[in-house]
Amino acid sequence: MADGVFRIPLPLPNDGLRAVNVYAIVDDGGLTMIDSGWALAESQELLGRAIAALDCGFPDIRRFLVTHVHRDHYTQAIAIRQTYGNQVALSIDERTSIDNANDRQGFRRHLNQLVRCDAGPVLEMFRKMDRPPPEPNLWEYPDEWIDGRTDIKLAERALVAIPTPGHTRGHLIFRDDSNVLTFTGDHVLPHITPSIGFEAAPSDMPLAD
Ligand SMILES: [Zn+2]
Repeated sequence: MADGVFRIPLPLPNDGLRAVNVYAIVDDGGLTMIDSGWALAESQELLGRAIAALDCGFPDIRRFLVTHVHRDHYTQAIAIRQTYGNQVALSIDERTSIDNANDRQGFRRHLNQLVRCDAGPVLEMFRKMDRPPPEPNLWEYPDEWIDGRTDIKLAERALVAIPTPGHTRGHLIFRDDSNVLTFTGDHVLPHITPSIGFEAAPSDMPLAD
């Protein structure tokens, strides 16, 4: 995408979008990743091959800067951290969603919300869906909570994390001023408007946010 910045598309099964983009920033011999992909064996293998082409392995990832808590952006960072001990950063406004994912009642609230919104047919479709087998718990907290607009210093460049709530309560974009790059996560999508996320504990008016 720019000097030292690489886009890595990773698989996104069961979704209207074809791929989730993660970005590798080469920085002083190590990597900073923007987003991580969905924790799937195929995705981790592809990511490993992509960073090998940059002469790096998973232990060289210093930090994952994650735009938001959705599975396809966050969970692979946790899966890789469980093995290699990398650092993971996420907005503090995503904390409620992680707490809900770890709480059975949180899922129940999610379903009740469908009923409240008069989305009974959606609930019926959901009940009939084949669901994947339960995965190991990847809804762990990050190492670092980003609280509001925050400067992030890398060895060779400076980013700023900017809150852009809507798609999720705690969505962040990361702007690199010196290189005129902005990593927008799901705040900006190529062919559709970003969906307003279906959160177990939504803010009052995510579209307005
Ligand atoms: Zn998303």
